[in-house]
Amino acid sequence: MQKVPLLINGEFVQSSCDSFIDVTNPADNSVIAQAPRATDAEMEAAIASAEKAFETWREVPVTQRARIMMRYQALLKEHQEDIAKILASETGKTFDDAKGDVWRGIEVVEQAMNVPSLMMGETVENVARGIDTYSYIQPLGVCAGITPFNFPAMIPLWMFPMAIACGNTFVLKPSEQDPLTPMKLAELFREAGAPDGVLNVVHGGKEQVEPLLTDPRIKAVSFVGSVPVGQHIYRTATSHMKRAQCFAGAKNHTVIMPDANKEHVLNNLVGASVGAAGQRCMAISVAVFVGESQKWIPELAERISKVKPGLWDDENAGFGPLISPQAKARVLSMIEKGKEQGAKCLVDGSDFTLEGYENGNWIGPTVFSDVTAEMDIYKEEIFGPVLSCMGADSLEDALALVNANPYGNGTSIFTNSGPAARKYQREVTVGQVGINIPIPVPLPFFSFTGWKNSFYGDLHAYGKQAIRFYSETKTITSRWLEGDIPGGPNMTISLD
Ligand code: NAD
Repeated sequence: MQKVPLLINGEFVQSSCDSFIDVTNPADNSVIAQAPRATDAEMEAAIASAEKAFETWREVPVTQRARIMMRYQALLKEHQEDIAKILASETGKTFDDAKGDVWRGIEVVEQAMNVPSLMMGETVENVARGIDTYSYIQPLGVCAGITPFNFPAMIPLWMFPMAIACGNTFVLKPSEQDPLTPMKLAELFREAGAPDGVLNVVHGGKEQVEPLLTDPRIKAVSFVGSVPVGQHIYRTATSHMKRAQCFAGAKNHTVIMPDANKEHVLNNLVGASVGAAGQRCMAISVAVFVGESQKWIPELAERISKVKPGLWDDENAGFGPLISPQAKARVLSMIEKGKEQGAKCLVDGSDFTLEGYENGNWIGPTVFSDVTAEMDIYKEEIFGPVLSCMGADSLEDALALVNANPYGNGTSIFTNSGPAARKYQREVTVGQVGINIPIPVPLPFFSFTGWKNSFYGDLHAYGKQAIRFYSETKTITSRWLEGDIPGGPNMTISLD
């Protein structure tokens, strides 16, 4: 059985632990590898190695750091399909979706390649006579990242390339459910020229996360995952005086106005809701049909019912299985609750199994209508291929519903009215808004800006905000004396 190595101080090493976590193929739950729970000594070695490497890495010129990112980007592109195959084998994602997961990460590495200009400070000459003020952006030290199962390439790549390009070193604790993909990313990063200790990768669960939140050598923590864990990580890291950015759960609404292009709406909602088995933090899980557009719900349900789950290499598969039997059981119980609480189940995927793969975590596409804000299927994040359809009388009613929801990751509106779209984008309390675009994930020169319970912290992932998150600003005020030195003690705080 393949044992997943740790990456400590530039070496891929086997853990000496005696407790391992099975990594499975979600299509049939066969065990494909085992991830260690890193020991305390291994956690210590990873943090110590990152701290040591920081002394020299921070001295490496920013242009050389950028060149490592350029080589890394080229290697990731060259190996995109190999990485996607590994990714598909441990997540069950379709091959296209797996390649997309890698690609969205490569785009962040492309942003990290721009680090010399992103790290430029500010200057003002002659702030007082003969005095200039200027600022530098300097790295923090050791940063840590804790990532979820659902984007095992993209989300680690949101973090360590940006942090390391800034001159920091990094300890990554990827999801224990799909650690093979991040290890391949780490292997290629070494091949790109990353020195020993600049990136360390440890494995395990919450016991291995704890030291990353409490050790004083770690200066910043990036987390992506569920709400309860995100809240715990934010509280613990900040109470240990670290900066933290925690991206958490979501309930993303799309609002469909009656003047929208029906064909465009229906085509887009199929993939945005049940694509990737609904295991995307930006998946549309609630569709709010305003006025006459409610008549389109049966046709949407009909189209979604035709999407077939399947194996990663089946070109006709719309999506793959859920990540684990526990995830499947949770989604099935939510579907049951939806039925019990009075929602109309227009398409029911609870009984779906794939022939020959009956042991896998399969659920078919599921669509509810007549969903109300009091139902559990509305209140909770389902994270499965389940779409809840609701009705609203007006744009104002739809806005009120979305704004009352505690999550604020992504939302979209479909309309042909400029004023309606503008009102929605201005008034909605959600951090990422699509207009006639269902899943508005910003490209990495912007930042990934979830709000409310979808994000704890202030500086978001990638873009300029990531540079600020992974750095300190140093502001220098300087005077160079020439000729006669002004006499007498200076008893004021003014600059002149
Ligand atoms: P999770 O919270 O179970 O796990 C995330 C990470 O935290 C893993 O590395 C895990 O080992 C670790 N962890 C788990 N329990 C812990 C604990 N008690 N203490 C410390 N660490 C712990 O999340 P998941 O199931 O892997 O991912 C799915 C969730 O991630 C969904 O809620 C989804 O919405 C969210 N997500 C959010 C975004 C976003 O950008 N907002 C992006 C992707 C996923």
